[in-house]
Order: sequence, then structure tokens, then C-alpha cells
Amino acid sequence: MTKIATLLHRTFNALIAATIGIGVVATEATAAEPAKQIFGKVKLPSEGPASPIGFYAKGCMAGAVAIPTDGPTWQAMRLSRNRRWGNPAMIQLLEKFSKDAAGLGWGSGILIGDISQPRGGPMLTGHASHQIGLDADIWFTPKPAQPLTAQQREDMPFTSMLDKSKFLTVSNQRWTATHANIVMKAASYPQVERVFVNPAIKKKLCDTWTGDRSLLGKVRPVYGHDEHFHIRMHCPPAAKGCKAQAPVTAGDGCDKSLAWWFTKEPWAAPKKDPNAKPVKPKFTMLSDLPKACSAVLAAPANSESAATYGTAYAAAPASTSVEAVINASAEQAANEMAVPIPTPRPLN
Ligand SMILES: [Zn+2]
Repeated sequence: MTKIATLLHRTFNALIAATIGIGVVATEATAAEPAKQIFGKVKLPSEGPASPIGFYAKGCMAGAVAIPTDGPTWQAMRLSRNRRWGNPAMIQLLEKFSKDAAGLGWGSGILIGDISQPRGGPMLTGHASHQIGLDADIWFTPKPAQPLTAQQREDMPFTSMLDKSKFLTVSNQRWTATHANIVMKAASYPQVERVFVNPAIKKKLCDTWTGDRSLLGKVRPVYGHDEHFHIRMHCPPAAKGCKAQAPVTAGDGCDKSLAWWFTKEPWAAPKKDPNAKPVKPKFTMLSDLPKACSAVLAAPANSESAATYGTAYAAAPASTSVEAVINASAEQAANEMAVPIPTPRPLN
């Protein structure tokens, strides 16, 4: 693009933005930019009803809500990443799971890793999935009794559940029956589709789990996932634009598919063809994502407080204005300070 064309292009975008009242999000989106750059810049979710769009690893989301940074039985980690956004059903599940985990003796609750970016989409770092607000990472470290400061949540190192001196083996010093209980608790919710763990952890569960073995099938072995596990939810029933994943095969999964991880094949360096031409890395572009994702990027932003405390979703008395509800919940949050409790949200 020539300088003048670029200028015109920018002016045009600015004009559009001014006309429809949107912020920097859409104006900075250019066709040449990888989608992860565009979605990575967005600070706030879009307004309106929640909707997962596309597939876990190729999509975006509208109307996200955020899990509050601190709850009675959870803390969100690595706050600077701004990835505590999800479908309301996911946020509601995490709140329930945190309570259940604390009830199982998992410290004072859970430490929550990445969910999704405010409008989902591909990320600049990490994860291929987590794009539609239906994936969440949970640390294999329980929430300590003394709440972590924001700085501690940035700096606290991950703790692997593996004995790194051996090949693909769980550390018996670190792994406990409670670890097994919380992974299986996560798998027990009907709205949970899969739980991803390291193959060594899956094997440990296969060898030791004496509860409902049919739930083990949902626990899937995958690379990494030794210091956190990953909860993936089904597409919510009414979410038409959400692309479901093929269901897990029947059985406990303690079979050949697991044994494969203990062969050399998954760990071998990829074979290089000396005659192959160097290939340019291909990034996912906005045009590769479902069309609706462009509209999600261009949509007006919801405020962080409304998206966090559920005021946009809570059934407010007809006579109460949204502002009044937001102010009231801000005041309530200020009173309770350390543990703002979100209002219940519908399951979408
Ligand atoms: Zn994950």
C-alpha cells in the first residue's frame, strides 16, 4: 500500500469508527495482520448476548463475561494476560467447581489460569484452543489460605506433577489422592466434554482410580498439562454457531491410545527432508475465522464491571436502571472488598 493509500485507509477506518462509535479495536484491524495480533489487542468484550462462534481452536466469542479476579474459593492467575473471559456457562462452571474443589480438601479452592481473551480468538502466546470461551486451565496447585497478591499471581512458578528424572512418570511426592479427586470431579460435570492432562497423569489415574471408570474416558492425554489441567465444555445447547468436537470414544481410554504416548513416536524429533524448501509460517488470518468474528471485533464494548459482576445478565427489578445495579454492586463489592461475589448468571 502506498503512503497515501494507507492514510486514506486509516482515515476511512477512523471515519467508520467515529460513525458507529467503536474504539481502536476495529480501526487497527488490517487485512494483513494475523488474527492473533488483532484479537490480542482487544481489552474488553463485545456487548450483547453470549455466543461461542466456530471451533475451540478456530473461532471467537461474543458477549463474554469475566470471572472476578478473587472469589470465595478461587483466584485468577497472571492477571496481566487479561484472559479471564469466557462464556457465562464456563464462568458459572468454574465458580461451582471452585466450591466443590474446596469441599474436596483442595486448599481453599482453585487457581485459575487462562480462559480466553475478551473476544476470544487466537492468542499471541500459548494455546491453540481457548478461542471460544469454553476452555479453561486450572493449576495443579491449590489456592493457599492466605490470598495471593496480584504480584505473586504474576510470579508464582508452576509446579509440575512429573518426576523429571524419569520418562513420563508422575511424582509420588507431589501427586496425591486429592489431585486425582479434583481432576475426576471436573470430568464428572455433564457439561464438561473433555479434561486434558499429561499422559503420565492419565496413566496414574488409569492405574489407581477406583471411582466411576466411565468418567475416565473424558480425561484425555496430551503434551504438557503437567502443571495444570484443562477443562473443555460442550457447546451450550442453544449456541448454533458453536462447532462441536467429535465425541470421545467409549471406554476409559486406558488402552492403546494411551500406550502410544509411552512409545518413542510422540517424542521423536520431526524428520527433516533435506530437499524441502523453507516454508513461511502461515498464520491464521481474520478471513480464516468464521465471518461473524469480524462483527464481534467491530461490536461496541461492554464495560468490565458489567461483564465481571454479571449485571448485564442478572435479572434486575424492572424499575432499576442498569447504572443503579452497577453502582449498587460496586458499592457491595467495595464493602466486601476482598471477595466480590458475582451474581448468578443463566447457563446460556
Ligand atoms: Zn489449556
